Amino acid sequence: MTAFDLSGKVAFITGGNGGIGLGMAKGLAEAGAAVVVAGRDQAKSERAVQELGGKAVALPVEVASEESCRALVKETVERLGRLDILVNNAGINIRKQPQEYTLAEWNEVLQVNLTGAFACAQAAYPEMQRAGGGKIVNIGSMMSLFAASFVAPYAASKGGIVQMTKALAVAWAKDNIQANAVLPGWIDTELTQRARAQVRELHDRVLARTPAARWGEPGDFAGIAVFLASRASDFITGAAITVDGGYSVNG
Ligand code: NDP
Repeated sequence: MTAFDLSGKVAFITGGNGGIGLGMAKGLAEAGAAVVVAGRDQAKSERAVQELGGKAVALPVEVASEESCRALVKETVERLGRLDILVNNAGINIRKQPQEYTLAEWNEVLQVNLTGAFACAQAAYPEMQRAGGGKIVNIGSMMSLFAASFVAPYAASKGGIVQMTKALAVAWAKDNIQANAVLPGWIDTELTQRARAQVRELHDRVLARTPAARWGEPGDFAGIAVFLASRASDFITGAAITVDGGYSVNG
């Protein structure tokens, strides 16, 4: 359908080499976009590009570094000619009780999950202006809405993602740039495999609360990525959309 067609568009996805990011990358590639898969592990990114085929490119990025985010945008434009879509998906978590974190750990989570997303958006902005518009998709979490005892910096970063998204949406609407956040429920990825190993009964608790009665899969994010990256969502900006099998509305 033409409203969802991404032919001629260039997207980059931080952390696009695995998990939710790769699920989104597959959707964007299928809709016709040239996709830059950006992560720290270049071999993993190269494998993802093999899966995506066609116009996909693997480039290294460390989102905790402003220079690296800027270099990624520069290289994307040098290699592919433009930048239309940014997906800020790279994310980490360190699970501890609040009193146990060092400030270095707190800063690391905020730096990757929130500051990195801002740095990539800032770097992408002039290129999106040049392209006549753009789409920014920031990945939040159920921890943008709720909390747990072991997520103080992660919840702060993911709450911040939602508010930052709104601010970007308001500021850059004049440039025809739409910024939205996606809040995943509990999705089966490397990140949550670690969480399930660390947090007792998490697997069953999630299943019990999720009306869809399953954990999500990376493939569940292909559709929302295409929608928020395409003309179909041109009048949607500043929104935070849950993709959670009903988890967040189950009282
Ligand atoms: P994964 O651990 O599978 O993927 C995380 C990705 O982020 C990897 O591709 C990794 O690439 C990349 N990454 C991590 N740190 C950096 C960094 N400093 N610089 C560049 N890339 C980095 O996790 P998920 O797919 O589960 O998570 C993706 C996003 O979704 C995260 O923002 C997460 O917080 C969010 N989320 C996940 C949920 C879930 O249930 N899985 C629920 C809610 C939100 P590399 O290995 O190459 O560094």
